[in-house]
Amino acid sequence: MAQRMLKFVDLGREMPQKRDALARRSDFDEVYRQYAAEKAAAQASRCSQCGVPFCQTHCPLHNNIPDWLKLTAEGRLREAYELSQETNTFPEICGRICPQDRLCEGNCVIEQAGHGTVTIGAIEKYLTDTAFEEGWVDAIRPVTERPESVGIIGAGPGGLAAADRLRRQGFQVTVYDRYDRAGGLMTYGIPSFKLEKDVVMKRNAQLEDGGVEFALNTDVGVNMSFDDIRERHDAVIVATGVYKSRDIGGPGAGLGGIHQAIDYLTASNRVGFGDVVPEFESGELNAAGKDVVVIGGGDTAMDCVRTAVRQGATSVKCLYRRDRANMPGSQREVANAEEEGVEFVWRTAPKGFVGADAVTGVRLIHMRLGAPDQTGRQTPEEIAGSEETLKADLVVKALGFEAEPLPRLWGAAGLEVTRWGTVKADFRTHATALPGVYAVGDIVRGASLVVWAIRDGREAADAIAEALRDAAAVAAE
Ligand code: FAD
Ligand code: SF4
Ligand code: SF4
Repeated sequence: MAQRMLKFVDLGREMPQKRDALARRSDFDEVYRQYAAEKAAAQASRCSQCGVPFCQTHCPLHNNIPDWLKLTAEGRLREAYELSQETNTFPEICGRICPQDRLCEGNCVIEQAGHGTVTIGAIEKYLTDTAFEEGWVDAIRPVTERPESVGIIGAGPGGLAAADRLRRQGFQVTVYDRYDRAGGLMTYGIPSFKLEKDVVMKRNAQLEDGGVEFALNTDVGVNMSFDDIRERHDAVIVATGVYKSRDIGGPGAGLGGIHQAIDYLTASNRVGFGDVVPEFESGELNAAGKDVVVIGGGDTAMDCVRTAVRQGATSVKCLYRRDRANMPGSQREVANAEEEGVEFVWRTAPKGFVGADAVTGVRLIHMRLGAPDQTGRQTPEEIAGSEETLKADLVVKALGFEAEPLPRLWGAAGLEVTRWGTVKADFRTHATALPGVYAVGDIVRGASLVVWAIRDGREAADAIAEALRDAAAVAAE
């Protein structure tokens, strides 16, 4: 039955049912179940249809949230889906993994008024999952073909969103990636308990079916040059993400059993695909039966601790130098991790590692939060004499990522970068200093979010389409 809106006063916020923590610990399936149709409609009806919707302002894609919530509440799901996919290339992915508490939902006025946010992300996911089930998702079938071609380096969300948009307008698109599967960090970084892999593979298949060419296992700068790609295409998009892991030194830093988060998570995701991963088979990148210590307080650290739990670790501890209120990771993910048995050791920092060949423990020191810095964040300070050793036979470092030095790796001196190594690009068109070369996603922003990469990819695609059409019109004169 169609629902009236503004129900937030009588109807509480209800997320889709969460699977029991004990069951979650033993598999890599997603944590949240799907809404039933009535529940989605009822939750959508809580929206107060704000004249100035802050949810929309704070969504990087400016999704038309109030309108598709209203359509959902009225049971007009197909129209709701059509509207939601007009501004978002992968709504079912954003609905699953956007940190909504920092974006749309965190700024919902009924949340601010103390009634609990509208569950925007879960409804967005529900709409597109339903659209796939019902066959409402259009195949990519350009009305006319265009002769111009675009080469995209990097098959993450930034590159794929651009590929989708360009191909729908008839351009010839080739996506190059050094990995054997498309999807970037959605495939090999983010664990499947947050984003099941068939969701990503379905999008890859849709793009391939729509005529996007994939040149996988192609490491640009190693087995194909950047200049070759520029020569082959009328425009090029750099969407390579950031993969240089930040590191820590100190005594024992070179011991066995100490690994980078990206290697650990990639191995786990590959195992999920059924690939043979020697480092997992040997036990090196497998937490089963081990005391695991993860260093870091961001979302990557949360993904590592929760992966270790699922692999059957004996104990999983997370070291972070600040406290819960000051950690960068999503509070929702911290709560999920705690439910699953992860122990957080707040206000601690590693001082080194102990062991003969392989690590057996992490030396840590306790911290206190001191005076705030210029940004207002309290600076952690060491407490003298508070060092101790924590037992560990697998240590995972999740300290963040930096850009690889592309101009040097690719022999492309003209590709201007910032002092952090990220590529300089116009914030609207995403054009770089090199003619015909654009850049999107993490390689421009530094480690960011899927939803921002999608936005960049869509904008760059539109700027390229306009430039190529203009050039064709000039040539025809
Ligand atoms: P990427 O997704 O990194 O894709 C870049 C692609 O380029 C990769 O496939 C790579 O193989 C390819 N490539 C790189 N160099 C070359 C080369 N020389 N030649 C050919 N190919 C190359 N964001 C969220 O919104 N929600 C989350 O829950 C979330 N969780 C995360 C968890 C982890 C563990 C990590 C690491 C990140 C997470 N993020 C999350 C961030 C998000 O994944 C990224 O912001 C997003 O994927 C960036 O998209 P991108 O297209 O710029 O790059
Ligand atoms: Fe919220 Fe992300 Fe969806 Fe925007 S794309 S509405 S931020 S879940
Ligand atoms: Fe609805 Fe909240 Fe957005 Fe207002 S801010 S339109 S209540 S979802």
